[in-house]
Formats: sequence, structure tokens, C-alpha cells
Amino acid sequence: MLRLNELKLPLDHEPGAISEALCRRLKLQAEQLHGEPRVVKRSVDGRRKSNIQLAYSVEFSLAAELEQRLLKRFAKDPHLQAAPDTTYQLVGQAPAHSTQPRPVVVGAGPCGYFCALLLAQMGFKPLLLERGKPVKERSADTFGFWQGKRPFNPESNAQFGEGGAGTFSDGKLYSQVRDPRHLGRKVLEELVAAGANPEILVLHRPHIGTFKLATVVRGLRAQIRALGGEIRFESRVERLELDPHRHAVRGVTLADGSFIAADQVVMAVGHSARDSFAMLQEQGVAIERKPFSVGFRIEHPQALIDAARWGSCAGHPLLGAAEYKLVHHASNGRCVYSFCMCPGGLVVGATSEPGRVVTNGMSQHSRNERNANSGIVVNIEPADMEPYGAFPDDPLAGVAFQRHWEAKAYALGGESFAAPGQRLGDFLAAKASTSTGAVQPSYAPGVTLTDLSSALPDYAIAALREALPQFNAPIPGYAMDDAMLTGVETRTSSPLRLPRDQQLESVNTPGLYPAGEGAGFAGGILSAAMDGIRVAEAVALTRLRREHPSAQGESACDRV
Ligand SMILES: Cc1cc2nc3c(=O)[nH]c(=O)nc-3n(C[C@H](O)[C@H](O)[C@H](O)COP(=O)(O)OP(=O)(O)OC[C@H]3O[C@@H](n4cnc5c(N)ncnc54)[C@H](O)[C@@H]3O)c2cc1C
Repeated sequence: MLRLNELKLPLDHEPGAISEALCRRLKLQAEQLHGEPRVVKRSVDGRRKSNIQLAYSVEFSLAAELEQRLLKRFAKDPHLQAAPDTTYQLVGQAPAHSTQPRPVVVGAGPCGYFCALLLAQMGFKPLLLERGKPVKERSADTFGFWQGKRPFNPESNAQFGEGGAGTFSDGKLYSQVRDPRHLGRKVLEELVAAGANPEILVLHRPHIGTFKLATVVRGLRAQIRALGGEIRFESRVERLELDPHRHAVRGVTLADGSFIAADQVVMAVGHSARDSFAMLQEQGVAIERKPFSVGFRIEHPQALIDAARWGSCAGHPLLGAAEYKLVHHASNGRCVYSFCMCPGGLVVGATSEPGRVVTNGMSQHSRNERNANSGIVVNIEPADMEPYGAFPDDPLAGVAFQRHWEAKAYALGGESFAAPGQRLGDFLAAKASTSTGAVQPSYAPGVTLTDLSSALPDYAIAALREALPQFNAPIPGYAMDDAMLTGVETRTSSPLRLPRDQQLESVNTPGLYPAGEGAGFAGGILSAAMDGIRVAEAVALTRLRREHPSAQGESACDRV
């Protein structure tokens, strides 16, 4: 089987054109193909608006000898290769009668769910503990809060509850992390098995969308349970219990006071579990600061973005609502960039604490809301956090930094969970907005018009004021006066890292497996799920070595 990448065709090509283009490109006769080529990836090449094309990766079979000849003939063509084997193999299988305590996974976000799923697939029957509610009840709490019908619930919101932080999101499923073992493919295949549209396996930049994500999350839950795993909701882990002599994990205590014995605990608690970070700090678990970013959400008419990206092809059903990615290196040394852009989406309240306002974005699968929104954020380095720490070099200073500016946004918004907002023209002119214009802000639970100049540190405001007009060059009209800013966007990634060793255990706490975004090892749904797989493998290999102490590394006993 061979794979050919970058096979370009016009937007409106006939279905048979792929096969014809493949034969033309490789100088083959149609009869030499064994069956129809299979499309494995489809992306859009929109670099030339006058000639937007679809770019395919296709896999196809020929007679074995012909495949070899072709590979030799096109040896210099980087786009032709032997089709890679993307099949995922479990690293082991639990012995039938193990006496080891079952592994505990804390947090039912993408990382925790994939970690638990893989452990369950290997027969280890994990226990998954989640502080929030199942996705149906969580949706009622979160949408109720946004619509002003339910009070804010600190245990059930945009960050906490089944599915984790990305459940009410655009559900973008791509990542820039290196993936030589095709773990991303395994994640996508499991998401399809759990109910996601199979198109995510083929699209270059797939996304699921909020309501469909909720269905997929329920599918993952069902699979884990069917394989013998247990999931407990409204079960917040309040303490990690450690052996005082070895500083090794011996279990967890829940908020209701119950103790669960375990010598392997995966902490996949996400970037907003600030109480858990404080508890880990108290327990002496190694923690270090990590850079993250802060800024505002910006909204534009989606039609403006579509026209800039797709020109006269805007509205073509294969293109959908256009995305963008922007970067500007400001003269004060800060980097300003777009973050988590949501085409045809809504801005939503993403706080997990009372007295704070946090923005983020989500879209439905159709991406058909009027506005495009994106975070426009500025990098924050560990040294910037120092003044906010409780003591010199406080590893949780980044959390204090976030809290400070989120509380400021709450105050600027009128202490009602409304977000402070401003027209872009007014922000650039440093004067408070008194009315909105062509772009109506979509943020729920509501926007209070104000001046955002004091909503972030001065260096961040200066960098944003410099960058935003520059974005007119790639997207004409981007700096329109009526574009709407709302703030603050602070939960771009974790403000800390829980460093881990080669076996993916905490560097100073044996048996603790820091995982996913909260631990600083992921930055989105796909990368968090991939990290969950890696950690499940590490947990499994340790257990298998204990069962067979003579086994070294990935020996025969580790592989099924
Ligand atoms: C509104 C929004 C939109 C987003 N859009 C996208 C997107 O389109 N694409 C993308 O790739 N990423 C998106 N993200 C980011 C993405 O959701 C995260 O990167 C991802 O969810 C991180 O996964 P995780 O499993 O590491 O952590 P999380 O998803 O944060 O999951 C952690 C889980 O742990 C639970 N928990 C915390 N503390 C405890 C405790 N003490 N005991 C028990 N349980 C606990 C939490 O309730 C939560 O369910 C979005 C995030 C938000 C908030």
C-alpha cells in the first residue's frame, strides 16, 4: 500500500477525479490500481483566493513489484511513500488474578477519560473520580448559568464536570505536538467509536462542536464501564495521601471524607483545579511555574473573515466558516497571538470560581453563528508572576496572577458575572465605550461596556494596542472600530507544571502520575487525550513489571 500526499484538485471536482489525478501524477494506468484510492486526509489550500483547492492524501494498492518500482522512480518526491501503519497496539494486558489495587484516575476530561479508557482496554479496571456532574446535569447547570436561570456552581461549570474543560467548546481536534506513534489517530478512532462523525478521521482540521461533544463523552463513559472500569461523579479528591517515609502515594481522600487506597494515582485535573494544586503544594509534590498567556476575546462578523480567507468562494459548503491564525511580535518584546479561534461561535463565561470573570469560545458543529471569535493573547513569563506570589519563587504565583486579573474583570463587569467589554476603536483610543456598533457581543451572561485599559497589566495592554491594527494586513477590516473585545482570557493553559520522570511519575512522589493540561503536558483536547494514553501505558507497564519482576522494558510480557 502506498500513500500520496498533496494531490490537489479544484473545489468542485467530480468524485472520479481523485483516481484520474492520481494516475496522471504517477503515470499509471487506471487498471493498475487495485480498487479505488482511499482518502485519508483532506485539507484546503486557500493560499490563492482566486484558485482555492482541496489537497488530498490518498492510499492505494498496486501489484507489489510495481509499488517497489514506483517508490524507486519517485524516490525524490517527498509526497509519495509506503503507507504508514497507524494501527495502535496496547502495551500489555492485565493478568487475570492480580492482587494489586486498581489504578485511580482523577478528572474526567479528555486526558482522564483516555487514560481510563486505555487502562480499561488493557483489563486494569480503573476507578475514575470526577468532582463535577455527568454531562447532562452539568449542561443544565452551565447553560442555566449563562442564561441567568441558575446560580453559578463552582463544582459544575465550563471547566468542571464530565468531559472536562473542552465539553462546551468548538471541539477542535488538532494539535502541533509530534506524534510518531500515531496516538492522535487512536484518539480520533475512539471518538468515532463513541459517536463522533467519521469525517474527523479525514478532515485536516476536524472539530466536533458543543452538543455533539456531549454525546461523545457519554459514549466514552459507556465504553469504560462496559470494560469493567468504574466512574464516580461528584467525587472531588481533596487530599493525596502519601507514605510519610517514602513520600509515595498510598491513596486519596475524597471531599466526603472517604479514603480510597491506591499506589498509582493519575492526576488529570485540568488547568483550573487551583484547590488541587494548593493541596499538592502542601503535600510537597514538585511544582514549577510555566509560561501561559492572557488577553481578551475579540468578535467580528464571520462574513468579514470568510471574505478575507475565501474571497469569492466564501459560502462554498466544503469550506464552511473560515478560521484564522495571527501572530505579532510587539516592540516591548511580547508576542501577541490568536488563541482558540471559534468560527461562527459564541463567547462564553468560563470561570470556575465565584467573584471572577473568564472568557472563552465555543461553536456548534454547524459553526453558523453571526460572529467569529478568538482569544487575542499576550505571553506571560514566570518572572511576570513573581509580584503575585505568596512568597518568593512561589510556584503557584501564576494562579495568583490569574486570580488577580479575573477578579478585576469581575469588578469592571459590575460584580454580576457580566464581562467587561469595549469596542475595538475605543480600546485603541483609550476611551470607555458607551454603545456597541455593528458587532453585538455574544458573551453570556452579558457584557458591561467600559474601558479595558486597566483590565490587564500595562505591558499586555501596550502589546495588544500595537498588534491589533497590524492584523488588518492579513485580514482587511480586522481592526474595524466596531469589533468587540470582552475579557479576560486567562485560562489559555496551565500556569504551572508538575515535572515527571522517564516513567511519567512525579519527580519526587512515586506513584503520582501528573497528566494532561493541568500538569503542563498538553494544550488542547487532542494533546490531552494523547497524554492520557501515554500515562495509561506507563501505569500499565509498571504494573506488569511488578507482576513479572524479571521483565525489562517492553519485553514479550508487556506486549499483547
Ligand atoms: C470553553 C472552552 C473551549 C475550548 N475549546 C477547545 C477546542 O476547541 N479545542 C481544544 O483542543 N481545546 C479546547 N479547549 C481546551 C481543552 O478543553 C483543554 O485543553 C482540555 O480539556 C484539557 O484536558 P484535561 O483532561 O487535561 O483537563 P480538563 O479537560 O480540564 O479536565 C479536568 C477534569 O478534572 C476534574 N477535576 C479537577 N479537580 C478535581 C479533583 N480534585 N477531583 C476530581 N476531579 C477533579 C474537572 O472537573 C475536569 O472535569 C477549550 C476549553 C474551554 C474552557
